[in-house]
Amino acid sequence: MITQQLRLDDVSIDVVRKRVKYLRLCVCASTGRVRLSAPHRVEMEAVRDFAASKLDWIKKHLARFSSQVRAKPSEYVSLEEHYFNGRSYLLNVVEHRAAPKVTLRDDAYIDLYVRAGSTPEQRKAVMAQWYRRQLEARLPTVIEKWQEIIGVEVKEWRIRQMKTRWGTCAIRAQRIWINLEFAKKPEHCLEYIVVHEMVHLLERKHNDRYRAYMDRFLPQWRTYKEELNRQAGLIQG
Ligand SMILES: [Zn+2]
Repeated sequence: MITQQLRLDDVSIDVVRKRVKYLRLCVCASTGRVRLSAPHRVEMEAVRDFAASKLDWIKKHLARFSSQVRAKPSEYVSLEEHYFNGRSYLLNVVEHRAAPKVTLRDDAYIDLYVRAGSTPEQRKAVMAQWYRRQLEARLPTVIEKWQEIIGVEVKEWRIRQMKTRWGTCAIRAQRIWINLEFAKKPEHCLEYIVVHEMVHLLERKHNDRYRAYMDRFLPQWRTYKEELNRQAGLIQG
């Protein structure tokens, strides 16, 4: 196995010569290195052209990788940065003896009231419940607005904590599921995912017909999609 280095813009690529039939590109999920497997017979010039044609794809995956590395798990302690409705707040943990609660203060703080000795998991659960209630309050208005515009009916919606998807649509049941993470996101992101899932009631696949609907209903949808992609490695179902 021979490895060569290839540089395009500021991206370095490990070119690995192998007994493979086709050129194959991947961004390693654990190291973030870009690796291109190439058959021995393909000349470096052609390898470079292939890599150059995929440069946008490579950069997108690298950006996603670095954003995942940067995001470290929260401990839910004071002065941590947390998001709500697309805005950044500082967490302020207050110990008290009553039932846990969350309140916003001065457009700057999320006050999290918990019992003394609470664990990060317990604090996280209190926050998650609060996020859920906030999103539950926001979502019906957004769905109603888009039902009129798109002309489809959502029979049921749910908020779910999903690890791999921003949203899903059960077409026959006319049911959409929205990721709890949207409680943290700005309004346009929430609208985007609602429209994305609702358009599936018109077209199941992400094909040209689907994209044409998106262009018609939400012309800036590609920007919003990119914005979500940059933030985490979730799929827009
Ligand atoms: Zn979809």
